[in-house]
Amino acid sequence: MPEERPNVAYFSMEIALEADIPTYSGGLGVLAGDTLRSCADLGLQVCGITLLHRKGYFRQRIERGGLQIELPDAWQPADHLEPLEPRVEVAIGGAPVRVRAWRYRIVGVRGQAVDVLLLDTDLEENAAPQRALTDHLYGGDTAYRLAQEIVLGVAGVRMLRALGQDGITRFHLNEGHAALAIPELVDEEFTRAGKSDAAGAIERVRDRCAFTTHTPVPAGHDRFPARAAKAALEPRLWQRLRDLGVGSELNLTALALDGARFVNGVAMRHGEVSRGMFPGYPIRSITNGVHTVTWASPPFAKLFDRHLPDWRSDPFALRYAISIDPGEIAAAHAEAKGGLLETVQRLAGERLDPEALTLGFARRSTAYKRPMLALRDVDRLEHIAATIGPLQLVFAGKAHPRDEEGHKLIREIHRVASRCSKQVRVVFLPGYDMRLGGELVAGCDVWLNTPIPPLEASGTSGMKAALNGVPSLSILDGWWVEGCVEGVTGWAIGEDGDGGDLDDAERDRLHAARLYAKLEDSVAPTYYRVPGWFHSIMQHAIALNASYFHSHRMVLQYLFDAYRQHPEEFANAAPTVARVGPRS
Ligand SMILES: *Cc1c(COP(=O)(O)O)cnc(C)c1O
Repeated sequence: MPEERPNVAYFSMEIALEADIPTYSGGLGVLAGDTLRSCADLGLQVCGITLLHRKGYFRQRIERGGLQIELPDAWQPADHLEPLEPRVEVAIGGAPVRVRAWRYRIVGVRGQAVDVLLLDTDLEENAAPQRALTDHLYGGDTAYRLAQEIVLGVAGVRMLRALGQDGITRFHLNEGHAALAIPELVDEEFTRAGKSDAAGAIERVRDRCAFTTHTPVPAGHDRFPARAAKAALEPRLWQRLRDLGVGSELNLTALALDGARFVNGVAMRHGEVSRGMFPGYPIRSITNGVHTVTWASPPFAKLFDRHLPDWRSDPFALRYAISIDPGEIAAAHAEAKGGLLETVQRLAGERLDPEALTLGFARRSTAYKRPMLALRDVDRLEHIAATIGPLQLVFAGKAHPRDEEGHKLIREIHRVASRCSKQVRVVFLPGYDMRLGGELVAGCDVWLNTPIPPLEASGTSGMKAALNGVPSLSILDGWWVEGCVEGVTGWAIGEDGDGGDLDDAERDRLHAARLYAKLEDSVAPTYYRVPGWFHSIMQHAIALNASYFHSHRMVLQYLFDAYRQHPEEFANAAPTVARVGPRS
């Protein structure tokens, strides 16, 4: 191990800093925020870099029939952040763009801090189109997207330098959006080396870069035609991209794979899928985690304070939840559920039953997450409710403004909700964000997840649920492949790989059948008829899963595997993980 202390620059297009700062759209941003919160708690030397997103992602309004309206979510950076002096410049499409940074300081449990730099182009000296470049997260067209990625990657590195950050030992690219940091770093090296040794410059940069991929489908990766990239980038940077082997198109994932020595997927299964998608790259797995103090609901924070006094600084202590009386866990959960039901009444005008089995489903509304899977056959749900006990399903989620299918799914949930009976109630809560997410994961009885495998790279909301004693009922994908102990931490929907050989419609029909069977045979009978057993499952969700799927463990793995090792130690080591999955 080298003696030098790791000094990490962590780049992410979105970072969820707090509920009132709308600089994130979903799981990627929440993960980035949780990562940096754990880095602060652990006293690591890390600096986050992102864009300011002055108009946020969007505020969701739902009109009659489930029509999603997107409103700007403007906020006041000056209320939360400190403006910094330095200005850096980057040319985009030949036009100079001046960039400044605002600083957000995350203070950890032991008082150590991690700074986050939010890059901002809304400066008087910039022309109007350039001023708007850091307004909208995932807004605009591909040219806007590329310009934002230039600001993040290229101006991000320049800003670190302007702030005197010369001792960075790792540049961690959280997803491919920041990959343009690589040609900028290569250009720095190239200039330093006296403009001769491109290959040597690239190798030195590779040693310092780590890349976390989050996207298990090729279509999810940002790609630009070479012509557009060449026109947008400074000529020097385009030349460095050519040195890096960029040909007819600029693919940011490919660039990050080639430019980073350490590459990882975000769950064991996702690492496996990524190795299949990108053969030849030694892709590791570091399974995601959630920041315990952020995601423990107030009743559970109180419970843990009482029984596990170290849990805030040491979330591994959650293992000892095995010694907490399950009745106390049930009581804390009842309090969280009561809070959620008040929120349901406020947001949806529905008074739900605190005794009824309540399933939660909140995540980005997009096709692969299949929010309608549980609602395909309402008659079946009615039958289960009539024979075992009433069911309540609470939904939330935003569709990306251009995701037509995601919008349609919200309308379909509303269509079902408008026809639901007393026995099967369905509600949709508008405005899914960190705050509502926190209430939902803690206040439902069972957390439902129905992605099309293997498209859920990790998923993290089920980890937040586990922390609050809420077991998952989920397809075996992402983190659940590792987290599911059947009937102990929750339940799997079907077996690993079920329906993988079927066409989409048949696969969905099979998965829905498996979901209903598990609900009818295991989940609902346990909840209604053997509550003591259900409480013990809640306890095991905490003791077995919350004690592991937290971001301190994840960050420590990054520290050991990606930040602290000499690059040559991980250079060519083959990933050790074979196929993973529950054993039968
Ligand atoms: C945790 C969280 C997510 C990610 O949840 P998944 O299970 O990965 O889909 C998305 N959005 C918000 C607001 C969250 O808090």
